[in-house]
Amino acid sequence: MSDDERYSRQTLIPGWDQDKLTKSTIVLVGIGAIGSYVATILVSSGIGKLIIIDFDTIEISNLNRQLLFRDKDVGKSKSQIAAENLKPLNPKCEIEFIHEKMEDVSSAIYEEADVIIACLDTFIGRRWINSMAVRVKAPLVMGGMFAFLGNVQVIKPYETACFECQPLVPDEELAQACTPFGEERKKERQDELEKEPPLPAVATLSSIIAGFMSQEALKLILGIGNTLDNYMFYDGLSNATTILELVKSEECPTCGELYKLEQIEFVVNPEETVKDLILRLVLTYGLAKPDIMIQGKMLSPEKEIKDVITKSKAIAFIIDKNLAKPIKVVLQITN
Ligand SMILES: [Zn+2]
Repeated sequence: MSDDERYSRQTLIPGWDQDKLTKSTIVLVGIGAIGSYVATILVSSGIGKLIIIDFDTIEISNLNRQLLFRDKDVGKSKSQIAAENLKPLNPKCEIEFIHEKMEDVSSAIYEEADVIIACLDTFIGRRWINSMAVRVKAPLVMGGMFAFLGNVQVIKPYETACFECQPLVPDEELAQACTPFGEERKKERQDELEKEPPLPAVATLSSIIAGFMSQEALKLILGIGNTLDNYMFYDGLSNATTILELVKSEECPTCGELYKLEQIEFVVNPEETVKDLILRLVLTYGLAKPDIMIQGKMLSPEKEIKDVITKSKAIAFIIDKNLAKPIKVVLQITN
């Protein structure tokens, strides 16, 4: 069967350029419920290359909505099984899987993307992928769900509001996971699990949100129509869609022009320990477990500030899994 025949119905659409699609690469982070539908749609539509990143394993409770998995796949890698099951849908599409945490994947992979699609169930994960998309200047399509409620956001770095420009929901609420973690992820995210119960999820909502997200990705690649460029909220019980106009902030710590972390002086008491300072950084910047580096050396948490900083000011780099790149701050030592 020729490609012309395979794609003959979609190429009837004015402005559709199958060649553009066939040359495109999409990086899909998170292959759970929404991710399974997104991947199915995009592979069938004939994107050139799909790179799936997920390090979770399949659970029996995933099967009500994660359509790429079967009973026999329980306990196996989500990204690997998804790649195997997607291949027969369109043998021409190149499909790669990376069974690793997204934070551990080389930025070169993200740089390959024409569009990054994130189907993540934690606020921390969304912050991280937003930061990476801004860093590699790749358009980002993000979506999430809670029972019959869903949301979609499209971010064009430095052009439209990013995830940090105008945070919509408090950290505590968005930090919850909607999918019970597979065995591997349970080990990694033990702390999160203790405070985050699984949230309700249904296949209809997953497929609707995935449809919206895939459509945005196609429009971004094909350059047709108007992309969302802001935040859409969908209520499946009343069939209501609400679009919130997000404003790009010049003071955004991720994409703003005016906000430079190195201009911020972080006041530090010489008598306090590095551990105390780390705790304040966690609370101020929403970090997970930051390390502080000064002049190429990591500070030991047990040390007192006066033992590691002898001058009145010091430039420090903060490294954390919630940040795609280290941030630079000025530590100002009080007398
Ligand atoms: Zn921003």
